[in-house]
Order: sequence, then C-alpha cells, then structure tokens
Amino acid sequence: MLRTHTCGQLRLSDVNKTVTLAGWVQRSRDKGSVLWVDLRDRYGLTQLMFEEAKTSADVISLGRSLGREYVIQVDGVVVERLSKNDKIPTGEIEVKVTKLTVLNAAKLPPFTIEDDTDGGDELRMKYRYLDLRRNPVRESLQLRHKMAQHTRTYLDGQQFIEVETPVLIKSTPEGARDFVVPSRIHHGEFYALPQSPQTFKQLLMVSGFDRYYQIVKCFRDEDLRADRQPEFTQIDCEMSFITQEDILNTFEGLIRYLFKNVKGIDLPEVPRMKYDDAMKLYGSDKPDTRFEMKFVEITELTKGKNFPVFESAELVVGINAKGCSEYSRKQIDELTEYVKRPQIGAKGLVYVQYRTDGTIKSSVDKFYSSEELKQWVERFNAQPGDLMLLMAGEAFTTRKQLNELRLLMGDRLGFRDKNKFSALWVLDFPLLEWSEETNRYHAMHHPFTSPKPEDIKLLDTDPGRVRANAYDMVINGTEVGGGSIRIHDRATQQMMFNHLGFTEAEAKKQFGFLMEAFEFGAPPHGGIAFGFDRLCSIFGGADSIRDFIAFPKNNAGKDVMIDTPSTISDEQMKELGLTVVNTESAKQKA
Ligand code: ASP
Repeated sequence: MLRTHTCGQLRLSDVNKTVTLAGWVQRSRDKGSVLWVDLRDRYGLTQLMFEEAKTSADVISLGRSLGREYVIQVDGVVVERLSKNDKIPTGEIEVKVTKLTVLNAAKLPPFTIEDDTDGGDELRMKYRYLDLRRNPVRESLQLRHKMAQHTRTYLDGQQFIEVETPVLIKSTPEGARDFVVPSRIHHGEFYALPQSPQTFKQLLMVSGFDRYYQIVKCFRDEDLRADRQPEFTQIDCEMSFITQEDILNTFEGLIRYLFKNVKGIDLPEVPRMKYDDAMKLYGSDKPDTRFEMKFVEITELTKGKNFPVFESAELVVGINAKGCSEYSRKQIDELTEYVKRPQIGAKGLVYVQYRTDGTIKSSVDKFYSSEELKQWVERFNAQPGDLMLLMAGEAFTTRKQLNELRLLMGDRLGFRDKNKFSALWVLDFPLLEWSEETNRYHAMHHPFTSPKPEDIKLLDTDPGRVRANAYDMVINGTEVGGGSIRIHDRATQQMMFNHLGFTEAEAKKQFGFLMEAFEFGAPPHGGIAFGFDRLCSIFGGADSIRDFIAFPKNNAGKDVMIDTPSTISDEQMKELGLTVVNTESAKQKA
C-alpha cells in the first residue's frame, strides 16, 4: 500500500514512529523557518511539518511548491506538537517529513474544499466529485451507507429475502409518467423504467417468497419541483399471510431499529391517526406532530352576526399560537400576507388576541361582542397571552390553508427542531381521489390497494367515501413511507380496474399477467415502501435530499456534470427506429 496509516489515525502514542501517509493537500502555512501542510483523506487531517535547515533542501522546496488538492505521499516521523489542536483527533501530533512525492498535481479547484464552501449549487453539481471531497457531503453518504446496512440487518433478521426485480419493464401505475427506453430490436416498441417494483413484488408473493425486500431505484417522470429527483431509491417490501397490524408492527420495528442503531435514539411507539382525523386536526395527511397546535372548529359560534365572511363559510377553523397575543399589527399583517400568497391562496385571516392583561381584542370586534369572543377563546382553551388565528371557507381548502399557517407558526415558535423526531402512522386513506384534470377517479395509492370490505358497497354510490387498507408513515411532517393490503383475487382486481375507468381489454393488456397470476393461488398479502433518500435526509437533519445522493440531478432534472439528458447521434436514432426531430444536425439543417 502507498501508506502505513490514514490521515485520521495517528495519536500521541505513535510518537517516534516512522510512517508513510498519502492524501490531498488541504492547505499550507509557510512561516519561513517552518512550513506546515495539512494532509487530508476520508479519515481526517494530519499536519505535516517541514523545518528549514533540518528538512532537506529539495524536500522543503518541493513542499513549498504544493498547491491545494495536490495528491502527495510523505515519509516522516511522528512528533508531539508544540501547539496542540483539540478540535481534531490527530491534533496532538504532527509528522516531520523526510521524503515527499507528488503523486499527482491538481488544478486549483473551482470552489474551496471546506465544510463551508464558497461554491454555489450549480458549480458544486458540475464538479460533484470535488464536492464529494467535503466532509458534510461525505458524511451524508456515510450515513446513507449505515442506514442501508442496518435496514438489511433488520429485515434479514425478520426472514425477508432480498430479490432484484427488472429495470426494463412495462408501465407500473404509481400515478406518474414513465421514463421509456426504445427497443432497438423491436422498432416502435418501448420498455418502461419501473416507478416501483409493485407488480413484481406481488408476483413474488404468488411465488411463495413470503417476505421480500429490495433497496431499489425507482423512476418517475413527474413535473419538476424543488428537491424532487427523477430517480430515487426505495426500501421496498412485501409480506404474505399478514394483516395490516402485522405490517405496521414490522415496519415500525424497522424505523425504531434504525433510530436506535444509527442515531442512538429510542423512538417511542409510533402513534396512529386516521386520515379523516389528520385532515380535521391538522389539515394535512402528513401532519408535523413535533408540536400540537391542533385545529379548533368554531363554525356554529360565528353564525348569525352578519360577518359576511363567516356567515357564508362552510367551516370556520383556527389555531392557537400560544404566547403570541402581543404580536404587533405588522407581525399579524405579515401572517395575513403569507396566507394570501398565490401558493396558499387564502382570502384573509381573522385574529383574536387574548391579551396578557386578560382583555380580548380581535379583527372582528365590530361583529362580535366580547362575551361572544370569550366563548371562542374558551373553545380554544386559550390563556391570557395567546393568539388565535382563524380562517374560513370551503372546508377542505380552508384546512389546507390553515395547515400552511400552522407550519409557519411552528417554525416561528421554534417547534420544528431538526434534531427532534416525531413519527406517526396515518391510516384509512381514501381509496379513490377525484381528479379535476381528467374528470374521473384515480387510485389514491395505486390500483392494487384493497378497499375496506365494509366500504365496498359505497363503490357505486359514493366512491369518494370508500376507505382503503392503506397507510403512510410520517416523520416530522414528511411522508417517508406508504403501502397497503393488496387485492389478491381476480374478480376484485377486475372490478377495481372498472371503477378506475379501464375497459376490460385495457386492463387485460396492461395487467393481464397479474390478474392471471391471481388465479394460480395468490396468498393474501400487503406491503410498504419507504423513500430511502428522504429517510436518510431526515436522519441527517437536512432539508434537502440532494446530499444524500452521490450524483443527484439538479432542479431541472439535469446532471450538469455528465451533461444529461442530451441528444444522441442520428445513427443511434436510426438504429432505434426513431425519427430525428431535435438533434443538433436537425437544428443545423433547419
Ligand atoms: N409501490 C408503492 C409505492 O411506491 C408502495 C407500496 O404500496 O408498497 O408507493
């Protein structure tokens, strides 16, 4: 090997040892009589020392010529440092260099390779391999590695078998568009990249594998949004002969195991909440339960007093921002502006201040007496010092808008600490979701999810009210995983496809293989998939998933380092039987 030790290894107990180290030059400090160079590798930093008169002249002059990020190898002796650095584990020693070899020179990097870099996002993405040299990014990927290792250990211990499923497949309906790959041999035909291994994992249950998992890449061609990656990784799982309860327990076990082993945290038992309650209490199917601030409805208390906004509203609902009663007019105006932004789209905000002196002041004093406001305040269980923020309108929309305000107030009040973790199961999702775009119902989870047996009768009369055996795990207000108990018989699956607007022929063409498999002895089964990148970012206390992916795409879905997507040659196009529409040469010809 080109080294005897790593740059993170040497301690006082190694003093007087002759060692060989190799790594990258982090920085140099030249004091004239002494030259110091910090040498870096994955494991840490070690200070190298060259002494005028004591180190040989060519070694020290070569040492002076080193630039940042040069790759070097040194021989030397470990000595105790005069001025110690207690911030790094090797800070008590340095290596007195006797021999220096430049293994490779380096151009000046376009940004500093430091924990806090001066490089902007795009530049760091273009030189991702340099960005990956920085500690925080490398540590994020090491965390990811650890998460994957522990996931495998836990699932292996529960008799799960890891099986790889194909990447060149046919469409899987997870609700997004497919990425497709043209076939060279069969012109005009395409593979689709899996949005998830859903159908394959169900087939593995038919095969009797009983418990399957895979840490697997999935591909979804969705509209671009900050922090959404076209390819991402799932911990994908399926089990046979189980009830929903078994799935919840098994995977709550996984998450708690990860918290324990990766972060040393004893996560309490994960509470459960029905979808309907989550919507009613938080206006979201993924509530951030690190803090309370539950919704309080006061609709009937507001009626009959000629305040037009409340009079016409289906729902009047609010939150209690504890300790905020003395907010200034300006602060409240800011909140109003926030909810009126087009992304949220509320018409306005009503406030009630329960002042610290016990008086009540509101923005609707004209319409309501202090006795009436007192009743509202009691409904909120408020104390002097509290501020109630109310919104009104159509129930579903109003709840969604108030959810945004609740999260903002949670941020303001410091309740959304990244180092605190609150997990939640959300259960009993609706089976179907109405789409304004296509004017029909879509499967909220996917078409293989089973309806609750007691709700099947509603499928014809009130499809929107049918609940599914579907569940999500939410951590800190982010959906980290979701799954369902599946349909496992042909008749129900066929009926489901009918309700989703597939003709029998379409269903057969796309999913005939699965429905046929259901006729050859399919066991009752169900499963779940966790978004692995997201889970890692939550464990890492980060907002973005990007640094938990070694080579991510940017927000425009591009990899600017390798420059993709990009055009292919006319020849390749021809070979694939594709018409040349937009290649460079086509542009030039035009
Ligand atoms: N295939 C589903 C998804 O990707 C997860 C599942 O139902 O197991 O969301």
